[in-house]
Amino acid sequence: MAGDPRFVCDAMLGRLARWLRYLGADTVYARSGTREALHIALQESRILLTRNRRYFQNHTPPPKFLLLASDRTEAQLRQVLQHHPFPLRPGTRCLVCNSPLLSLPREEARGRVPFYVFQTAPRFHLCPECRRITWPGSHTRHLEKQLSRALQGLIPLPPP
Ligand SMILES: [Zn+2]
Repeated sequence: MAGDPRFVCDAMLGRLARWLRYLGADTVYARSGTREALHIALQESRILLTRNRRYFQNHTPPPKFLLLASDRTEAQLRQVLQHHPFPLRPGTRCLVCNSPLLSLPREEARGRVPFYVFQTAPRFHLCPECRRITWPGSHTRHLEKQLSRALQGLIPLPPP
């Protein structure tokens, strides 16, 4: 949504990028490194999430960034949410390519997902970019468990 924070994750933060996407945040993953992350942050006015203090400290113009204190994804996610809260919308964005998912009418999932899934899944989503079809629990059950642990007791601060 307009006004929600948009992120770019530095290399090494692939797991955090996936978690943020799952929660609905517009998140680019700069897999090739901090130089790419910095470029994207400046080009697209995204908040750079990084563990790398040195690289961009003296960069002009300075990117908007958040220096993550922990190596652990759970703590990183909590830090992001405390500084840049956004409404949590789990399962609304493609974990692979970051596109917002479209809901797919049940009939259109027929023959494109395993029969058992077609019979039992409550709803389906389609990624308009990479054409993947997903459904609740498709590859997210483990992720959901990790996220609910990470977010336990977290009260995000109001936006600055
Ligand atoms: Zn996709």
